Amino acid sequence: MALSLLLLFGPSFLGPDKQELPYSKFLSAVNADRVTEVTLASDGKVDGTLKNGDAFTSAVPTGVGDPRLLPVLRQHVPTVKAVPATNGLLTTLLGLLPTLLFLAFFVYIGMMARRQMAGLGGALGGLSGPRTEVVERPSTRFSDVAGYEGVKQEVSEVVDFLRHPQRYAAAGAIGPRGILLAGPPGTGKTLLARAVAGEAEVPFFAVTGSQFVEVFVGVGAKRVRDLFADARRRAPAIVFIDEIDAIGQKRGPGGITNDEREQTLNQLLAELDGFDPKTGVVVMAATNRPETLDRALLRPGRFDREVAVPLPNRHERALILVVHTRNKELGDDVDLDVVARGTPGFSGADLANLVNEAAIHAVRDGRTVIDAADFDRARDRIILGHPGSPNALLPDEKYRVAVHEAGHALVAAYSDEADPVSKVTILPAGTALGVTQQLPLDDRHLYNEGYLRDTLAVRLGGRAAELVYFDEGSSGAANDLSTATDLATRMVREFGLSPEIGPVGYPASGPGHLGTTLGAGRPYAEDTQRVIDREVSRLLREAERRATDMLSEHRGSIDRLVERLLESETVDGQDVYAITGRPMPGQEERVDAAPMQAAASRLTVDPGH
Ligand code: ADP
Ligand code: ZN
Repeated sequence: MALSLLLLFGPSFLGPDKQELPYSKFLSAVNADRVTEVTLASDGKVDGTLKNGDAFTSAVPTGVGDPRLLPVLRQHVPTVKAVPATNGLLTTLLGLLPTLLFLAFFVYIGMMARRQMAGLGGALGGLSGPRTEVVERPSTRFSDVAGYEGVKQEVSEVVDFLRHPQRYAAAGAIGPRGILLAGPPGTGKTLLARAVAGEAEVPFFAVTGSQFVEVFVGVGAKRVRDLFADARRRAPAIVFIDEIDAIGQKRGPGGITNDEREQTLNQLLAELDGFDPKTGVVVMAATNRPETLDRALLRPGRFDREVAVPLPNRHERALILVVHTRNKELGDDVDLDVVARGTPGFSGADLANLVNEAAIHAVRDGRTVIDAADFDRARDRIILGHPGSPNALLPDEKYRVAVHEAGHALVAAYSDEADPVSKVTILPAGTALGVTQQLPLDDRHLYNEGYLRDTLAVRLGGRAAELVYFDEGSSGAANDLSTATDLATRMVREFGLSPEIGPVGYPASGPGHLGTTLGAGRPYAEDTQRVIDREVSRLLREAERRATDMLSEHRGSIDRLVERLLESETVDGQDVYAITGRPMPGQEERVDAAPMQAAASRLTVDPGH
């Protein structure tokens, strides 16, 4: 076997005059499936063979790796090998033997892994493959991140800490450790983390969660250990883990676990816990699915701070467009505010892409000045290129969503006991077309009847506004109806709030959703069921009547709020109350209570159908 391997791989080491490819050429050859074999050295040197048999060399820039490289190689190159650093021809020749041993070892490990044997990490010793992280000293600054003033404010404490970790230590204060940036893809989470490193002038270690879990059991944990050891050596530093959900997902139910991920996650937790607060290493992680994360990650001292990075609003979109057109020439007919207005739901990355597409369009046309038509074309391309994107609302849909959300918000604002409205938006996010957010004045543990009735009316307020405005409902209220029905059912069945049923409680059995336990196993007679149904429907009808009456009476307020929503997409609670002329409850304490705690707020989310 050794001989055949020697014959097979010999040429790529011995070939005297290999062509040297720039990294970009190398990547494009890989992507074009023109590379049959690649050997990566841990110092970033690349040896390889092209399809036509030519040998070549290249080098991964900065000598420490490119996180995107491995997945691309895996996909496009039949044979990928990794070796320790090589220096010159002689060492190369001498290095051949260990290489062969390494390969044999690799095959061995592969076999073991297939046999589901865990705990090989130790056996791997120093061979954790090419480095996964990229270290840089970014020149990115907060000024490169357009908009998001609140978010920047929140992370600026990290900058301060990284600049003066010793000051914190002297005062006995524990600085920030783990910050979770949560938001849809392309909203600038990576950019923001890099800007924190740039502002603090510290090294930035970037990894992607998936890099840790695609390998053999134990290796991911070792990589985490190495990464943090490196970061501590070069502290103060930022470690940025993109797609942390790949490592930190909730552990599977019923014992279905993935050993590799489990070990990697445990190692990450151990690293976070083991921080000496004085070292000045801050971990920033990004995810677009914070709800899937293992709770253990979010405990105090770990990622205990979550910063929401939402899609940019219209004003922020305009600012992002300004940043990305900085060194481009725009025609007189280009109004970036107009472009921003026409791109609801676009992320920062989408906008960067939009500008680039527009520029490409101009170039194809033989121009260097980008005009408004270029932007229009680019926008159409991007929207059509996102099939099924919930963001591309038709104008009449947008109008309907605005009326619907205005209904929720105004019913809340005109009701005496409902939670105060803090924000209304028709900016699509995820599957939601619109959202009305209410912030309770206190954490409630007890709900009185008036509050529950008002809550029902608010839930039905969206549909009520559609009825008042259009004389018909729409599918957009389906989610409201089902949550309202759930609540009304609990009021009747569990809370004893129906005079017909009386003070009887039939708690839903088990933690399951209400309704799932109804049917054959219900703990009451069929007649009782009929009364419950009647009472639930009465509560819902009454709530709907209250909402429609309220909204018909204040139709002018809907008009104004709808207008505001269409204009700026997001309207703050204060402005909603200003429209109604009613005082905002508990406003004194609330001013600048932002950034809002998602956990404490009540969201009426209207998903599309
Ligand atoms: P995420 O990590 O949230 O997926 P990125 O940070 O990778 O997003 O953003 C991708 C690109 O989008 C950035 O490199 C930048 O060009 C652009 N971008 C996103 N948000 C902004 C912003 N607020 N200001 C300027 N550019 C932005
Ligand atoms: Zn609704």
